[in-house]
Amino acid sequence: MFNSLFKKNKNDSPKKPETDPVCGMRASDGITLMYRDKLYAFCSDHCKKEFGEHPGLYSTH
Ligand SMILES: [Zn+2]
Repeated sequence: MFNSLFKKNKNDSPKKPETDPVCGMRASDGITLMYRDKLYAFCSDHCKKEFGEHPGLYSTH
């Protein structure tokens, strides 16, 4: 029983989003940021920086 719980928890990793929340374009590999336990991905460092400065604008819709 414990083992099955552990297994389920282990598979529950955050999946990488495919869309940049700042500009709406397809996100690039490797440009990601964790914010409030959610993973966000971006098309460029510019958008990542923009999100970092105004996370409230992009993290909720
Ligand atoms: Zn972008």
